[in-house]
Amino acid sequence: MREKEAKFVQISPDAARKPLFGLDAVGLEKVIAEAGEPAWRGKQLAEALYRQRVGGLDGITTFPKTLREKLAAEFEVGRPQIAQVFTSVDGTERYLVETPKGDTVETVWMPEGDGGETGDGTDADESDRTWHRATICVSSQVGCAVNCQFCLTAKLGLQRNLTAGEIAGQVVAVLDRQRVEIGRDRVNLVFMGMGEPFLNYDSFMGAVKLLVEEVGLSPQRMTVSTSGIVPGIERFAAEPDAVRPKLAISLNAPNDKVRSEVMPINRKWPIEAVMDAVRGVRLRTKERVTFEYVLLGGVTDREQDAHEVARLVRRTGLAAKVNLIAWNPGPGVPFEMPREGAVEHFKKTLAAEGISAYLRRPRGRDIYAACGQLKRTVEG
Ligand code: SAH
Ligand code: SF4
Repeated sequence: MREKEAKFVQISPDAARKPLFGLDAVGLEKVIAEAGEPAWRGKQLAEALYRQRVGGLDGITTFPKTLREKLAAEFEVGRPQIAQVFTSVDGTERYLVETPKGDTVETVWMPEGDGGETGDGTDADESDRTWHRATICVSSQVGCAVNCQFCLTAKLGLQRNLTAGEIAGQVVAVLDRQRVEIGRDRVNLVFMGMGEPFLNYDSFMGAVKLLVEEVGLSPQRMTVSTSGIVPGIERFAAEPDAVRPKLAISLNAPNDKVRSEVMPINRKWPIEAVMDAVRGVRLRTKERVTFEYVLLGGVTDREQDAHEVARLVRRTGLAAKVNLIAWNPGPGVPFEMPREGAVEHFKKTLAAEGISAYLRRPRGRDIYAACGQLKRTVEG
């Protein structure tokens, strides 16, 4: 018995090593200062974690072995790892990403490939690529507490908030897998995976800052989607342009009555309260707010709904566009897909009213990677 306990004590300090991934420049410099090293080593550490994407301390080749060993006594890289990959016929990949704590979240890679048929004399070093632009869909929580009636993630409930490192780590793990070169490749981020980013605000914004300041991605290539958490939108409105992503609001219904039925959160923050908060965001030149609108068959997909949405959007006075998403089915979610042609008709009706509307193609539906389907499904 005693021997067992002794063994346990030996293992536990190792298991409790603190993750470096997730610390910003100031945090890393502090670690370095405590190790008795000069501040420039902090910059090397940030470079290794966020630019070279090292998976372990051994990979930090700019550090002498003694320093790596010194750090290893207390720290680990601790970046989330891709544990399982599901590949769709359309090229989308859904990842189960394991956090250092041992639970998993989902991240999706959506290449907008051209099948190599550019015909534009693509650079030789890109010849093995099937994509030239891609979008990564990032999770902000394990599960979600918001309980939208049409969403599969809601079925999980909220299990926990992710840390800034766990959110940014999903992105870095995918950039690494896809060998993305920052500056050369065009990668967009959407914070539209599992969870409600504005109910985990500090970690979400912490991740954005790491991705902008350390990884080198532009906030103008990032979009965060919220179900309409007013205090979160108000905080977001106060963020400086240098780190503020674009904003998308999950509208999903033409009026408060229907919205409260499909998104119970609407009873707390109804449409007008959300719009008031959104009007506080100072948009950049040419920037528009996106309203996401999930079409639920027979519930929100009728022509009269489109007219109502157009009036609603006009009334906000915001520079806005509408992204239409045909509802993606999931087991145990009691809705129907929109009828044949309904989405196209909805889009045309909005356009005729002068509202720009776009159709979001369902990506990776066959592998449960599409909007609202993220529930850590392990079947391919
Ligand atoms: N929690 C945030 C972001 C994640 S959800 C939010 O709700 O905005 C991302 C988008 O997927 C939202 O616009 C949501 O309305 C939509 N969505 C959820 N379930 C869906 C489903 N089953 N089919 C299609 N879209 C869905
Ligand atoms: Fe949560 Fe968004 Fe799903 Fe609503 S749609 S339950 S806010 S993840």
